[in-house]
Amino acid sequence: STAIHWFRRDLRITDNTALAAAAAAHDQVVPVYIVSEWKAEHRWCGAPRQAFLCGCLDSLARNLEAKGGRLIIRQGRADAVLKKLVQQTEAEAIYFNRDPDPFGRAMEERLTKIARDLGIRLHPYKDIALHERNEVLTGGGSPFKVFTPYAKAWLKLDKPEPTRAISKLSTPPHIASDPLPTLHTWKLVGEAAILEPGEAAARKRLGCFLDGPIFHYQTRRDLPAEEGTSRLSQDLRHGTLSIREVYAKCARAAEKAPAAHQRNIGIFINELIWREFYLQVLWHWPQVLDHEFQEDCRRLKWRDYWRPEKKDGGQDYQRWCRGETGFPIVDAGMRQLAATGFMHNRVRMIVAMFLTKDLHVWWMHGESWFMRHLVDGEIASNNGGWQWSASTGTDAAPYFRIQNPWSQSKRFDPEGAYIKRWVPELRDVPAGQLCAPPKEGEALARDYPLPMVDHARERDVALEMFR
Ligand code: FAD
Repeated sequence: STAIHWFRRDLRITDNTALAAAAAAHDQVVPVYIVSEWKAEHRWCGAPRQAFLCGCLDSLARNLEAKGGRLIIRQGRADAVLKKLVQQTEAEAIYFNRDPDPFGRAMEERLTKIARDLGIRLHPYKDIALHERNEVLTGGGSPFKVFTPYAKAWLKLDKPEPTRAISKLSTPPHIASDPLPTLHTWKLVGEAAILEPGEAAARKRLGCFLDGPIFHYQTRRDLPAEEGTSRLSQDLRHGTLSIREVYAKCARAAEKAPAAHQRNIGIFINELIWREFYLQVLWHWPQVLDHEFQEDCRRLKWRDYWRPEKKDGGQDYQRWCRGETGFPIVDAGMRQLAATGFMHNRVRMIVAMFLTKDLHVWWMHGESWFMRHLVDGEIASNNGGWQWSASTGTDAAPYFRIQNPWSQSKRFDPEGAYIKRWVPELRDVPAGQLCAPPKEGEALARDYPLPMVDHARERDVALEMFR
């Protein structure tokens, strides 16, 4: 018998729940990836992430071939493409891993109707999270809005084990496939120096992290100049690594480790829980994509920098995007993002607070800029991070706790190493000067702008706005 495996955010052959189930139950499997048809401009997509996606598909195609299979590429809307593919291959079932975002869910609903009409079976699986949907609930049976009790409940549950690797896969011959996509498919041009894509590269990153940095995670994860974090976000986003494999390897490392190492591993796992917290927030409250989670924040008067009819955004917003705000740590972050499709977590918080609390620009514009530039751009975590920084989300930063970009630099980049790496104009400026507003009218360096706002003043404006 023949089944289709629909690849989505699970671009790997190892420990892929739906793929393993399809391979175990059917003689032949048609593994398909469906390329979306938008061109050039997309509010939530851009070249860096699509370039990474192309590399992942290339690597996936080779990995499938090594098992005897063949990756089929098609373009179009998933439901229409899958319907046609079922008819062409006489497949009797479609296997896929569930996607919790509202777009993925809507597609799954359409597919349910098609499957009914065609008389085939659908096999959806949990795969992208250790716990999803309604698995982690309060004693009263409602979803958690606050992280700490969610994390406590999450930790108590048994964790799913990795599935067995597929040993071989047979794809029927003569099934037409489009070529693998390239940036040109979406009429994009990209220059960001992104990390190596694919399953093998992802596993190598995990291995390197478990070999050392994880044991110092607590002290080094907040220092953007260091390589103290796992750099696995794009792999968890695209599924080049399974979350079960990551968790199981961490748990194994913790078993034989001294207490200090165990504590560090625990803090790392806490970040994986944040990811699942935001995934379930989006599953329970998909409306967070359209407005503030906190109802009383929906009337906040963000500044009118960018209305839909004013497509280029306001000038100040543009300066933030380009990394020319005159705040060294903010500019370093925005330039790291442009150059690599990545920004360190601490700096993501700083630039997001700066956009919302210093420039008073609606967080959704920052959310969209991040989605277009981040290789790990993920709807749930990105929305969660932005609504946290804007103080409008579930368990968000309290509105009165506004980070000061100058003291954040002092605390987390005291030598200015991160700033100097990304803002070369400031290379010769003594580190101490990067941590405090320059004297009235005196630029930090010849080609570097003066701070575009006075943080202390804008802080008061933000407080007033929230009050
Ligand atoms: P590590 O510190 O090694 O963490 C391990 C993993 O835990 C990450 O790979 C990620 O999957 C998860 N994780 C860590 N921190 C968070 C967090 N705060 N929220 C949710 N998951 C987390 N992360 C994304 O994956 N995609 C996004 O689009 C995204 N947008 C963000 C936007 C803002 C404004 C903020 C403040 C944070 C955002 N994050 C996002 C969370 C975080 O910044 C990144 O996950 C992290 O920087 C990735 O680097 P790493 O893999 O080395 O992280």
